Amino acid sequence: MIEIKNIQKTYNYGKSNAFQALNDVSLTINDGEMVAIIGKSGAGKSTLMHILGCIDEFESGKYYLNGEDVSSLNEKKRAQIRNSKIGIVLQDFALVESYSVIENVMLPLYFSKGIKGKKEKMAKAIDVLKQMEMYEFVDKKVNKLSGGQKQRVAIARAMINNPKILLADEPTGALDVKMSAEIMSIFEKLNEQGTTVIIITHDMEIAKKCSRIIEISDGRII
Ligand code: ADP
Ligand code: MG
Repeated sequence: MIEIKNIQKTYNYGKSNAFQALNDVSLTINDGEMVAIIGKSGAGKSTLMHILGCIDEFESGKYYLNGEDVSSLNEKKRAQIRNSKIGIVLQDFALVESYSVIENVMLPLYFSKGIKGKKEKMAKAIDVLKQMEMYEFVDKKVNKLSGGQKQRVAIARAMINNPKILLADEPTGALDVKMSAEIMSIFEKLNEQGTTVIIITHDMEIAKKCSRIIEISDGRII
């Protein structure tokens, strides 16, 4: 499903402040896997996730997604792939705080072609929010929610287009132990339903719940 080969990623490439964040990274992740990516702060975890999520470009190497070469697509094409195939839960939720829960979850539907009318969009959002046990909060403003509830909204938003792949960057980083366990059980459920799940984490307890752990150090997989 996901295959990256010899990826090099340098921020400020070609400039005096260039910084190589990924060095010769190769990785295969199969359909249906649940993988943890671990490593110290600054190791390159988020950089790798942004590449896997078709958010960022890289200067050399290859990325095949379901056999399709997505290495050198322009931003528009990458956005299309992101919308149709990949759900992303960014660090610190990245929700629109002043919007309601359902407005946040519906946002990606305005960038994809699938669901046309507003009623249909709302029905789809409610459906995903029910799966996250957030039905009772649909009309609540995000800034009134707890951390665990915000994370459920972020996951609902990531799942709204039924992506085959779900990427999450430190999804339990801001949560206490009990809420972390609840969020992990959501990821486990989504994985059982067939979603490939990739979780970046600092927490070994979280990583141990995944079927494979990939460790990054100084921009290399070790
Ligand atoms: P992690 O998620 O493992 O903490 P990151 O992937 O965010 O690490 O960052 C890896 C390295 O790349 C760090 O040294 C960081 O300072 C650097 N870096 C990240 N983003 C940028 C950027 N936009 N410009 C320059 N350097 C960056
Ligand atoms: Mg990070």
